Amino acid sequence: MQLQFLGAAETTSGACYLLRVGGRQILVDCGLFHGPEELKQRNYGDFPFEPREIDAVLLTHAHIDHSGLLPKLVKHGFTGPIYATAVTCDLCSIMLADSGFIQEAEVERKNRKRIRRGQELLTPIYTAQDAADAMNQFRRMVYDEEVEIFPDLRVRFRDAGHILGAAIVELWVTEGGKTTKFVFSGDLGNLDQPIIQDPTFITEADVLVVEATYGTRAHENRDDRMERLAEVVNSTMERGGNLLIPAFALGRTQDLLYSLRVLQDEGRIPNLNIYIDSPLATKATEVFQQHARVFDYETRTMIKDGRSPFAAPHVHYTETVEESMRLNSVSGGLVIISASGMADAGRIKHHLKHNLWRKQATVLLVGYQAQGTLGRRLQDGAKEVRIHGELVKVEAQIETISGFSAHADQGALLQWLRRFRHIGQVFVTHGEKESCHGFAEVIREELKVPVVVPKLDESFVIQGGSTISAWDNQYQDLAIPDAFAGVLQVAKGAEIELRAVYGLAQRRFRIDNHFYTLFNVGTARQFFAKLALARLIAQGKLAKGVLLAPGPSPDWEEVLSESVPDTSYVDVVTREALAPAGMVQSAYYYLDQIPSTAATGYTTTKQGHDVENVYAILAEGLKPQLFTTAHDLKRLWQTLAKGEFLAESVVKTLLSQYLEESLYVVEGTGPGIHVLFGASFEEERSFAVLSNGEVGVRSLFQQLFDLASKVR
Ligand SMILES: [Zn+2]
Ligand SMILES: [Zn+2]
Repeated sequence: MQLQFLGAAETTSGACYLLRVGGRQILVDCGLFHGPEELKQRNYGDFPFEPREIDAVLLTHAHIDHSGLLPKLVKHGFTGPIYATAVTCDLCSIMLADSGFIQEAEVERKNRKRIRRGQELLTPIYTAQDAADAMNQFRRMVYDEEVEIFPDLRVRFRDAGHILGAAIVELWVTEGGKTTKFVFSGDLGNLDQPIIQDPTFITEADVLVVEATYGTRAHENRDDRMERLAEVVNSTMERGGNLLIPAFALGRTQDLLYSLRVLQDEGRIPNLNIYIDSPLATKATEVFQQHARVFDYETRTMIKDGRSPFAAPHVHYTETVEESMRLNSVSGGLVIISASGMADAGRIKHHLKHNLWRKQATVLLVGYQAQGTLGRRLQDGAKEVRIHGELVKVEAQIETISGFSAHADQGALLQWLRRFRHIGQVFVTHGEKESCHGFAEVIREELKVPVVVPKLDESFVIQGGSTISAWDNQYQDLAIPDAFAGVLQVAKGAEIELRAVYGLAQRRFRIDNHFYTLFNVGTARQFFAKLALARLIAQGKLAKGVLLAPGPSPDWEEVLSESVPDTSYVDVVTREALAPAGMVQSAYYYLDQIPSTAATGYTTTKQGHDVENVYAILAEGLKPQLFTTAHDLKRLWQTLAKGEFLAESVVKTLLSQYLEESLYVVEGTGPGIHVLFGASFEEERSFAVLSNGEVGVRSLFQQLFDLASKVR
């Protein structure tokens, strides 16, 4: 039995856990990644498994970070059932279609630029049609009902109290006469959340996977939140302005409607006109109303008494763009709830443009505002913002109410965990690094059970009560030098066998190296220039003799510049080597312009001081440096081995000079740079050791190769 964490590991998005048991492969969630660009790139690449070999998907809830790659899974060959609660099925049919539209629109926008630059056109991850097709594979589950989905494999969905339809998944697997129980918390809700039920308490788990979004934090109390909301509404109405609330279409919008209704019923705010101006929010609210059976007691009572928060004479759902635009001519007295929640897209931007300059208006931020979004700039007190290319003065009041979260905070998570009578092993996921590790520590102390924070792609062998990381198992004898900084990776085909990260990417700001950190490949740049030359020859664009340049180690970048005089070699390598090898994260940067996700190289001077290599390389002259990731190198070897980059015979000749025993090995060095990457085509294995220092790289590469050989 093996459990692998393919997303939401030391991060909050891309939830996807793969359970291999009795020859079957079951996925729990298949979510879209967001956040740093390098993480988002995982949405585009191949899945780290074969989609047609997956037997079933268990989907916890409709949020895109859990469901967003299901259409891609189906598009790439998955034909099995997707089990989810009825509400989740209905919500997914609108959420996934919407996500498909967004993918199409994003690619269309990027392609307009690419056409002008003469670059190859991108295709969307999936389309709205792909999303509609995926819906045929959804199977409706009822809360609390145990279902045998395969012989020896039973599941039960329990209410997670997070958003409507969200589920905790219980899974019983029988193997060799012994039953192991898995519990996947999915996203867990708060105890007193409006509309939805509290999370169900579970009492037994051999293996528990629990979320930790707010694993180290506490939410504002609900009464304070309501008080603040009433204050904001009343002061805005007294000033005669509009109240604009950017809100997520699913969950947050309905929570706000509920809270406003309660305040009105209690006479704490007037009966004002509320406009829901987001087609997705309107559709989501419709789905909510169709499933009123699963609301909590309070909300069901409100509806029975004719006080539905969603359907009232003063609650309006705009449909057309014209209706939405008509709101712009009203200068006061309205509450407008519109998406997106961070004000960086959607109709809310129009409303902000027409209201931000009015002193009487208020913008109320009720959700997390990520760095770089319009919502965050407003929250940070910007005096002026640019919307649709127009500068708008900020005169409106900007207010923030925190605690409108659909996630349990540390207290609520612990309360849920304390109800367990038996837990064999805990995995903490779905949180930023600090939250996961911080919460893991709290669980260890409070519950005295074994806790692990899995790394992205890490897989664990589960045998009865004991759980061993497959990575530790095979590579536990690795001797890592203290001074080593960088990333180690071993992959067999698409599957990662080991990935471990050490040291700092940037010492001054104490930024850790991460699996997606970009590393300078130093002199290995030459290898990529050579790949580009070989590809141009194969296309008949250059004569074969070009690769027979004189001298022991010719400067292939120079050869490339001479052979293709009218284009910069940087562009040629990007187009002819990096792109066809699927190395989407790799790029050339000047050292004074490296992105924040790139590691700074550290070198030791003759006097024994550690210095940043930017000075050392400046001394050599200004040349753009090539940066890559371990993930990209895995893809490079896959495309080379499969003959997708160049014909196999050409690849063999080309790589012959890099052959060391049974392995192709490429080395790159420079001040503060040492990388080694290689592959054995027969074994389908690839290796990478990328370092932003100068210590231990050769020895680690050798160790990885030796340890991998042991299990052949
Ligand atoms: Zn969620
Ligand atoms: Zn989530």
